[in-house]
Amino acid sequence: MSGLSFVPLGVGDAFSARWYSTCFLLERGETRWLVDCPHPILKILRESTASCGEPVEPSTVSGVILTHLHADHCSGLESLAFYFHFALGRRLPIAAHPAVLRRLWDNHLAAGMDALLTAEGLTRKTFEDYFEAIPLSLDTPTVLGPLAVECAMTRHHVPTTALRVTSGAEVWGYSADTSFDPRLIQWLCAADLVVHECNLGQHTPIDKLQALPATQRDKLRLVHLPDWLVEEDLFIPALVQGRRYTVHSDPTPEAP
Ligand SMILES: [Zn+2]
Repeated sequence: MSGLSFVPLGVGDAFSARWYSTCFLLERGETRWLVDCPHPILKILRESTASCGEPVEPSTVSGVILTHLHADHCSGLESLAFYFHFALGRRLPIAAHPAVLRRLWDNHLAAGMDALLTAEGLTRKTFEDYFEAIPLSLDTPTVLGPLAVECAMTRHHVPTTALRVTSGAEVWGYSADTSFDPRLIQWLCAADLVVHECNLGQHTPIDKLQALPATQRDKLRLVHLPDWLVEEDLFIPALVQGRRYTVHSDPTPEAP
């Protein structure tokens, strides 16, 4: 597959009893990046890619693009980084804004990863022993092989970035977690296809997205919905877990 495509590995919110937490495998040829990384990521990756073709081996994943530190987006980093460390013998590249990276180790991962029992005894480990940090910028695209990643801050409880990922003529957008934000939607809609969250509370309500002008609304695909809302006719398509979608650079809507 030569174009830009993606598989929603999970489409659920943090409370979902039906779906894995929202995350994606973004693919261009042999380049594959996870976008967010909930637990149990190795099972999620295997099941959700097997359902639309061949199961993707974790050893072929280039790294993780991380939007923020809520557990339903980042709780798989420990197990994936340990897998890279022990099974693959290399570090896990992780691309995120510095405001996200800043608390990742001390406030999230260190308690479970900063010591390893070896034949020599207890060994102290650091973030750099497991991860290769790639800071994303709000000003300039970050090149990850054939992908160029842009980010913008969203309105969320903790520092969170939306993403625009360009590859060739195709651009994929992802809101990550955010309150309704017309300026962010305008930024995202420079993409050909925009995956947008939708939920209750401080998240983006469905009626606000339904009321957008058709030029923006037609680009949207929904994730992160409450379980009970998925069966409704939302007027905007919801993405299906474990299906591969292609990003088209022309404005023609994809076939259902
Ligand atoms: Zn969140």
